[in-house]
Amino acid sequence: MQKSLSERDLAVIWHPYTQMQTAPAPVGIVRGEGALLFDEEGNRYLDATSSWWVNIHGHAHPHITAKLAAQAAQLHHCIFAGYTHEPAVSLAERLLPILPGNQRKLFYSDNGSTAVEVALKMTIQYWKNTGRSRHRILAFKNAYHGDTFGAMSVSARSVFTKAFDDFLFEVVFLDLPTAENIGGLKEQIDTLAAEAGAFIFEPLVLGSGGMMMYDAALLDELLAHCRTHNILLIADEIMTGFGRTGTNFAMDQVQTPPDIICLSKGLTGGTIAMGVTTCTNDIYNAFLSTDKLKTLFHGHSYTANPLTCAIALASLDLFLEPSCAANRQRINTRHRAFAVTLAYHPEVKNVRSLGTILAFEIVTGETDSYTNELAGFLFSFFREKRIMLRPLGNTLYILPPYCITDEQLDEVYGSILAMLEAYGKQWA
Ligand SMILES: *Cc1c(COP(=O)(O)O)cnc(C)c1O
Repeated sequence: MQKSLSERDLAVIWHPYTQMQTAPAPVGIVRGEGALLFDEEGNRYLDATSSWWVNIHGHAHPHITAKLAAQAAQLHHCIFAGYTHEPAVSLAERLLPILPGNQRKLFYSDNGSTAVEVALKMTIQYWKNTGRSRHRILAFKNAYHGDTFGAMSVSARSVFTKAFDDFLFEVVFLDLPTAENIGGLKEQIDTLAAEAGAFIFEPLVLGSGGMMMYDAALLDELLAHCRTHNILLIADEIMTGFGRTGTNFAMDQVQTPPDIICLSKGLTGGTIAMGVTTCTNDIYNAFLSTDKLKTLFHGHSYTANPLTCAIALASLDLFLEPSCAANRQRINTRHRAFAVTLAYHPEVKNVRSLGTILAFEIVTGETDSYTNELAGFLFSFFREKRIMLRPLGNTLYILPPYCITDEQLDEVYGSILAMLEAYGKQWA
């Protein structure tokens, strides 16, 4: 008898963030369409978290497929030092003008983490190249910027980084700004100003940190204060970019322009991995020299892959259609109505929504084992209902592709209410 995909998988695959000894066998997915994925037995799954926050227009979108096929007939790949090609140039030409602030140059890499590595290298070397010593980097507590070593260093120290903590560079972690602490935060920045070279932050929402949302005006106040000390501002828009928070980019809700922006995830509509780091002319010009040492020595074999660039261009076509913004608005309206329903539920706290993101916490006991049991409960509940939701600790969130229909949203909301009922019965 033919073995199933999930049986063959267990024999050869090591999955991300997965304790392979205890994890249940993975579901074998064979096809995707819109907000739906289908497994090898023909069951349908509703992708309520956009396949790790990457998918914005739905799975296997025909426009993206067509543009990919057209590019595949022309050029698959070509070295990107000393050579260039149409999709890479077009994408930069079309993307830079719609980014917040004065982003003038675009650097390609492979994924979100590498986009962050490039941003960090740009700021560190910016200070070296301009002959000043600003060696400290600031970040938020609970931040997440990726899994490579530089990106891990500027992320929260947690169970995810524990094994590597001794190998990470030191970072100053700031509290998220609140009306109460903003004055203190500014004073803290004053004391760090002489050393601080850059501040990296996820604007408006800390994603992996638990969909923690914070105020745009307070972020702006903090950023403006950093700017008075010439601390370079790196906006990590890897999750928030391409419409996730309502506006095209989260930084569109903030006055102070960033020096550097990191993009990935939605950039290709959730099709192939690509990272982009953009910067102002001020950053770029600091690397122009007859001195070789001032070059940005960074690159990857598949930098600016033409197939991936063509896909990003196709995704951008769809993103800029008025129907995309209308869909995001529709989801936001539905989310806010459901948030009111949720807030009445005794098992629920901190209901919040921004753009197409809805998040809340499930009230649990104080101990970790309680939260661990909850994770197991949630996982099996939603998998049985074939709704793809993946909690962050006791935080549950919906972050759907923008093409999700009202009926499909109702199905997700309904499954959450059913879960809360079952949870209340079983645990309260
Ligand atoms: C996902 C994410 C990253 C890392 O991107 P990868 O492509 O997974 O390496 C970095 N920053 C933020 C804010 C993210 O959400």
